[in-house]
Amino acid sequence: MNIAEFLLPGMAKDYEPVIGMEIHAELKTKSKMFCSCLNGFGLEKEPNVNICPVCSGQPGTLPVINEEAVHMVIKTGLATNCQVSDHSKFDRKNYFYPDLPKGYQISQYDKPLTENGYLDLGDEENKQERIRIKRIHLEEDTGKLVHPKGANYSLVDLNRAGVPLMELVTEADIRSGAQARQFCQEFQLILRYLGVSDADMEKGQMRCEVNISLREKGAEKFGTKVEIKNLNSFRVVEKSIDYEIKRQAQALEEGEKLVQETRGWDDASSTTFSQRLKEEAHDYRYFPEPDLPPLNNLVALSEQLKVEISELPAQKRERFKKEYKLSKNDAEILVANFELGKYFEKVVSELNNWSKSAQPQFELIRAVKLAGNYLITELQKLLYQSEKSMADSKVTAENFAEFIKLVLQGVVSSSGAQTLLKEMFETGADPSNIVKEKDLGQVSDEEELNAAVMEAISANPGSVSDYKKGKQNSLMFLVGKVMAATKGRANPQIVIEILKRELEKYK
Ligand SMILES: [Zn+2]
Repeated sequence: MNIAEFLLPGMAKDYEPVIGMEIHAELKTKSKMFCSCLNGFGLEKEPNVNICPVCSGQPGTLPVINEEAVHMVIKTGLATNCQVSDHSKFDRKNYFYPDLPKGYQISQYDKPLTENGYLDLGDEENKQERIRIKRIHLEEDTGKLVHPKGANYSLVDLNRAGVPLMELVTEADIRSGAQARQFCQEFQLILRYLGVSDADMEKGQMRCEVNISLREKGAEKFGTKVEIKNLNSFRVVEKSIDYEIKRQAQALEEGEKLVQETRGWDDASSTTFSQRLKEEAHDYRYFPEPDLPPLNNLVALSEQLKVEISELPAQKRERFKKEYKLSKNDAEILVANFELGKYFEKVVSELNNWSKSAQPQFELIRAVKLAGNYLITELQKLLYQSEKSMADSKVTAENFAEFIKLVLQGVVSSSGAQTLLKEMFETGADPSNIVKEKDLGQVSDEEELNAAVMEAISANPGSVSDYKKGKQNSLMFLVGKVMAATKGRANPQIVIEILKRELEKYK
């Protein structure tokens, strides 16, 4: 039986995937975890230029705790509904690996900084799924091994050694690839909102590992657990899990015994492959790090840190939908893109100021919706085409709000608006000035439009008689002719009015 067959509805229902995740994220502190080397410096430069006796594991050196990193993990814990441990400590995790210069990693074993949290996925309208978080702890990153092509040796680069690393471990509450992806994306967003990590998966700032097993629906006992490591994008997280669910289900159907192992993802064939069998559980011989003092009174500290946490993505999503009546999709785009969301709110505040005094008046909620649309579609398109980010955009929030006002008040037509925004994007100039200089203003003057309408009518007698026969399309054809003749500046509403009135006169 092949996999496709197995996944016919009904059959796959017999099994339930049980998925847990471990997510590592590099923290954006100024310095490394236990020394004063700069964090992030030299990572893409020469190897071993950003190291010192501490992070390169020289004997006789002493680590010092980076408080900023501790604060960042506590904030992340607070933002993910975790309990902050009042008392915490660091432990040595002993294993020998060439990119781990000390021969052990400083991590946290039985007293993580925060534990027992959760994230709710979905939104208030749809069913929310709660993914519980077992713990979030703090440790240090390792160096990197470099394997020169064709060489019979490997090189070690310790620039990354000692970079503060946060590890989040979920309970096995995840049930699908899509849900795992959603969890990772939401967590990434939270890290970015908190400013604790850029969490760019491509740069290895955020790394995901998955453990997955299948059990018969309703069963308590877990099946044989397989780990998938080195998943470097959200897409791969989702695809590898979905593949693994199919693979394991098929094996179980055929009575095959699954083995506990670590698997990798091969993107070319879209399959997972066995990397190594899990022999017995590793004995890391954890023991308390004797060179570091324990951390106490963390609950009191967390009370102070709470104040520094501003609005989180989930709250912003709900607020955008309620306050601005944005669609779920629009709200999502503005929340996922922090800079764009911030810009949007500046534009809204400008529009809010004007809506009270502008003549002719406009309805604020319509203006806000229109602003959201133009930001998400047109401005994003311009940014994308020019390979620029929001930070490079020359269009100030004030000018953008004015642009929206001009569209709403009918000063520019919708096709004129596109030209106008493009010009604003290129020059950063004031939209009202551009309209004057480039003569982009919408023509609503009846006398002026009348001439163009009459011309369209006399040049297209066929369409006129079609219209009289009841073909509505021919009216739009004539509108198109007038729009073309006025280079898109005619107010289409008024053109339609005049056309209908004039066509009445024909038999
Ligand atoms: Zn160092």
